[in-house]
Amino acid sequence: MTIAPGSTIGILGGGQLGRMMAVAAAQLGYHVIGYAPTGDNVAAELCSDFFENGWGDKAALAAFASKCDVVTWEFENVPPSAVEMIPPHMLRPDPRALGIAQDRLREKRFIEDLGGKPAPYAAVDSDSDLRMAVERIGAPGILKTSRDGYDGKGQWRIASVRDMESVRFPGKPCVYEGLVNFEAEFSVILVRGAEGDIRFWDSTENVHEAGMLATSTLPTCDAVAEQISAARELAGKVADALKYVGVLTLEFFATSEGPVFNEMAPRVHNSGHWTIEGAATSQFENHIRAICGLPLGSAATRFERIEMRNIVGVDALSAHAILGEDGEAHLHLYGKKEAREGRKMGHVTRVSRAGT
Ligand code: AMP
Repeated sequence: MTIAPGSTIGILGGGQLGRMMAVAAAQLGYHVIGYAPTGDNVAAELCSDFFENGWGDKAALAAFASKCDVVTWEFENVPPSAVEMIPPHMLRPDPRALGIAQDRLREKRFIEDLGGKPAPYAAVDSDSDLRMAVERIGAPGILKTSRDGYDGKGQWRIASVRDMESVRFPGKPCVYEGLVNFEAEFSVILVRGAEGDIRFWDSTENVHEAGMLATSTLPTCDAVAEQISAARELAGKVADALKYVGVLTLEFFATSEGPVFNEMAPRVHNSGHWTIEGAATSQFENHIRAICGLPLGSAATRFERIEMRNIVGVDALSAHAILGEDGEAHLHLYGKKEAREGRKMGHVTRVSRAGT
């Protein structure tokens, strides 16, 4: 089914991913409305209507859905009870992808069933589970809450078996993972159209600081370049298994034994922001094209060298200094009110051709 221009796209979530999605949607002639609980919803100013209501507000969710022709999300932790309020035929991608990505344990099992390899892991539901997991898998490792974790939140590192006593079971279901000795990190971002056609963007090498993405760079080191095709094969299987429509991201560690799956995001991704200037069609535009049943655009890379760097905890005025740089530096600010430590305020993408 094709969604005609002039129709309304509903976005669940109000963050910067929704904001950039709304820009792409407007360019293709759609109206956008959003829904998220009260907060610094930076997507709202790009939307023709924005519902600031809780995820439990069934009446508001029904009113939101009644105004939409298609509904997608920019935030993968939308509670399943809220998603259930949207008529299933309006939702793209299929919400099964959300259910899997919201639960680290389920996600790892799903990936293993498709032939992928996650880090060694064990479910942890008590202090004694944690002790057994550390003894079986070894340390260093990371205890992660199964749900609601992102950007390194809800994670505790355990440096050695002796260090185990310093970390307590946090009272909610967790996964203990062995620390992967990786050469580099990378992501596979694909878009799958309504007819099942898949396009991959080039995989960037991603550097994280304090559990949060700092930079995404092209070209990548050899370790990443050699593992992209195996990682793409897995990502394609995930997309097909879920009859996925839209942009899907899988994150990997490049190791001496091949790609190790880290996690998936059933949405546009921070490591794909470079595609706005760096690719023939951005992840945001192709997501909108896919969910609206339109032909997909080329995902080809347009530059020899690209670096996307997150702007974290820096106020907007200071970030504007980037505009004085020579060369091609593209600044994106998200319009967030307060520049708190560890908060993504924007990003800058620097692109160059060979020899420049
Ligand atoms: P996550 O939120 O699980 O994606 O973790 C954020 C970042 O923490 C990853 O991108 C890695 O840099 C690091 N990390 C998480 N899990 C592991 C692991 N099992 N081994 C090594 N590094 C990890």
